Amino acid sequence: VTVSESEALPAVAAGEPAPRLGTVVMKFGGSSVGDPERIRRVAARLVAAKAGGARVVGVVSAMGRTTDELIGLAHQISPDPDPRELDMLLSAGERIACALVAMAVGDLGLEAVSLTGSQAGIVTDTVHTKARIVEVRAKRIHDALDENKIVLVAGFQGMSTDSDITTLGRGGSDSTAVALAAALGADACELYTDLGGVFTADPAVVPAARKLRAVGYEEMLELAAAGAKVLQLRSVELARNHHVTLHVRSTVSDEPGTWITEEDERMLQQAVISGVAHTVEEAVYRVHGAAPADLFAALADREVNVDTIIQTSADVIVFSAPLDDRAVTAATLDRLGASWSEHDDLAKISIVGAGMKSHPGIAALTFTTLRELRVEPHFISTSPIKIAFYVPRADVERTVQALHEAFGLASSAEERQA
Ligand code: ASP
Ligand code: MG
Repeated sequence: VTVSESEALPAVAAGEPAPRLGTVVMKFGGSSVGDPERIRRVAARLVAAKAGGARVVGVVSAMGRTTDELIGLAHQISPDPDPRELDMLLSAGERIACALVAMAVGDLGLEAVSLTGSQAGIVTDTVHTKARIVEVRAKRIHDALDENKIVLVAGFQGMSTDSDITTLGRGGSDSTAVALAAALGADACELYTDLGGVFTADPAVVPAARKLRAVGYEEMLELAAAGAKVLQLRSVELARNHHVTLHVRSTVSDEPGTWITEEDERMLQQAVISGVAHTVEEAVYRVHGAAPADLFAALADREVNVDTIIQTSADVIVFSAPLDDRAVTAATLDRLGASWSEHDDLAKISIVGAGMKSHPGIAALTFTTLRELRVEPHFISTSPIKIAFYVPRADVERTVQALHEAFGLASSAEERQA
C-alpha cells in the first residue's frame, strides 16, 4: 500500500484533520526509552494513537546506551566476539525495552503484547550482526491487532533463514519499523527522535541548523550514507523500495517533523542544497598493487560496506570503510598481500541536494569556501546530488559551519518551513 505524498503531506502542512487511520507503526529510539519515566511517556503516546482509532504497532530500540554497553562487555570477555553470540547478546537490549513498554501500556488500561523480532515474523538472511530483512510473516501481529492489542516489536533483530537470532546492524530498529510498515500496509511509519526531524546539518555542530520539512528518498539516502545519524541507511532503502512514507518527528512535542517521501517538483524548487552532513566514523585506505576486482570481492566477502572508491593512479586505489570494520578490513588487506596504509585522522563532509542536478556553481562555492578557510579537500567524489570530500578531522567542525553559512541553509530552510 502506497501513501502518496499528496495524501500525507498537505494534511499535516495545512493542519487539516487527520484522515481516518488504519495501521500506524511508531518507532522509538534508545533515548526515547532511556529511563522508566520516558518509557511511561512512550506508552502514553501509543495509547493516545490507539484512542484515535488506529491499529498500533510500536517498535523500540534498546534503552539508552544499552547496545554500546553490551558491545563493550562482549569485548571485555573476548577480543573478537563470535558474531552469532554477539547477536544473542545484543538482541536482549530491545527485548528488555519492548517488554517494559508493554507493561507500561497495560498499566494505562489497554492490552499490549511484546514480541521478539522472531516472534513478530521478521525473517532475515544469515549474516550475523548485519542481517538484512528478507521477509515479514506478520500473521502473529495481525492476530494480536485483531484482538485489539497494541503490539510492541523488539527492533533491530530477526530470525535468519537458518532459524538463528540475527541483528540488523547499528540503528537497525529503523529497518524493523519500515519493514513492518510495508508488510502491514501501514498508513504511517513514524520515527520518534530527540531532535524531531532531519536537519540541514548536525545541530550539535551548527547551532543555526534548521529542520527540513520534506526530503526526497534519494537525498535522504545520500544524507544517511554521509553520516547523518538520524536514520539507518538500509531503512531508507527499504522505504524507497516499498514506497513507505516516513515521518521523523519529536518524542516530546506534537510539532510536524520531517517527511521523507518521493521527490517532487516542490522540493526541487525549495532549495538547491538540503544539507551538509559529516562523519568521523570512516577510515580511508590507500592500497597499492591490488586488482580492483580481487580487492573489492575480498572486502564484500567479509561484509565490509565500502563507500568512496577512487583510483588515484594506475595501481593505487583509495577507498573508505566504516571504523567499526577496521579489524576485518586490515585482515582482508593483509591476506591479499597488498601494500596499504590507513588514514584514520580524516573526516568526510558531504553537500547533498537534489536541486544540484540542474544548478551549476555548487562545486565552485564549496571549494572557494574551503580555500578561504585554508582547508585542503582530499579524495573528492560526487554523485548527481552530492559532493563529498575529506578534510583533516581537526578542521571538520569549522568547515561544516562555513559551508552551512555559504549555502544560506539557515534561511532557506526557514523559508521552506513557511
Ligand atoms: N539498539 C541498536 C543500536 O544501538 C539498534 C537501534 O537503536 O536501532 O544500534
Ligand atoms: Mg537510531
